[in-house]
Amino acid sequence: SLKFKSLLYSSHDSKDCTNVLKVHNYTPNVSADSSIVLRTLAFPINPSDLNQLEGVYPSKPEKVLDYSTEEPSAIAGNEGLFEVVSVPSGVKTLKPGDRVIPLQANFGTWSTYRTCDKESDLIKIEGVDIFTAATIAVNGCTAYQMVNDYIDWDPNGNDWLIQNAGTSSVSKIVTQIAKAKNIKTLSVIRDRENFEEVAESLENKYGATKVISESENGGKEFGKEVIPKVLGPNAQVKLALNSVGGISCANIARKLSYNGLMLTYGGMSKQPLTFPTGLFIFKALRSHGFWVTQNSKDDPENKIKTVNEVVKLYRDGKIISPKEDARTLEWDVKNASDEQVLQLISEGIKTKGGKNIVVL
Ligand code: NDP
Repeated sequence: SLKFKSLLYSSHDSKDCTNVLKVHNYTPNVSADSSIVLRTLAFPINPSDLNQLEGVYPSKPEKVLDYSTEEPSAIAGNEGLFEVVSVPSGVKTLKPGDRVIPLQANFGTWSTYRTCDKESDLIKIEGVDIFTAATIAVNGCTAYQMVNDYIDWDPNGNDWLIQNAGTSSVSKIVTQIAKAKNIKTLSVIRDRENFEEVAESLENKYGATKVISESENGGKEFGKEVIPKVLGPNAQVKLALNSVGGISCANIARKLSYNGLMLTYGGMSKQPLTFPTGLFIFKALRSHGFWVTQNSKDDPENKIKTVNEVVKLYRDGKIISPKEDARTLEWDVKNASDEQVLQLISEGIKTKGGKNIVVL
């Protein structure tokens, strides 16, 4: 019988979420006759995974006694890539060796193995590397839906989107998806010593049309003198993507054209959104939230469609694999002690700047 090792939690810590993670070894009490058995190949450490452990995320898995723990527990992690080990008879769409990702969040992916009762809870993935597949459900789908599902773009015009946190994994995918659709991107990044180097990489490697700093974006003169030159004649800034909040939000909102849309999908600065009142009154600004988790629940078919579209963009070389910038953390399933596994994951949680992806 299979031995599973999972990172699970039974409580929360809003200050240091590594405190609540435990490595747990158990033999699952499900039979391979009734469940699909999955071996984990890779999973990312996303901001929402940490917010769940901190106890500040509205969507969370139920804590259960299914894993032979004393207290009700949940397995950490929302997305990841699995290889199908075995399927019960009756399963038609999957076979051993297939690669799959969970359809919905809260799957519990930080584990050597998982089981799944319904093949319809899994999406088959083919033809992309493990780093891509393991991150497509959250960041890939978020970027794709935000760019594609809200705006009537004119591919022959001078259409723009503006986004803050231009260095984030989501923003890099947004940039590339936009470029493939002939939409220009103005990316705002935090001021830093190596600004030129980072801006150059975002422009040349990822295809951002222009990268500017937060302080430039906040400057009055810059807004009046430089931005119009950057945008060029008849520019339509139709979409602003906000994952920071605070004053950064106000400064990207100001760049939107009449009746432009801001989608807020993250709050990295932990500051409330700030908006100049006049934008709503005189420029018909629209402001909405975006949450891929809810979208997937509301419309699972669209989630599958989105995943397949994003896979196609990766395969066609329109999006670079996240592998390029990721920090790979190798979980040596055969040899690593429980303590070493915990150490590895804690390191991934604490090291910022670039996506941490655990590979098993
Ligand atoms: P990454 O870890 O790849 O990037 C984090 C980004 O946040 C970097 O650009 C970083 O900029 C920036 N950042 C970090 N701290 C601050 C701060 N205090 N003030 C301003 N910027 C900061 O993250 P992801 O791409 O995985 O996720 C990005 C955001 O999108 C997160 O907020 C995440 O929760 C959200 N998200 C939301 C989804 C939804 O459905 N609503 C789905 C997926 C992601 P720097 O380079 O300057 O450090």
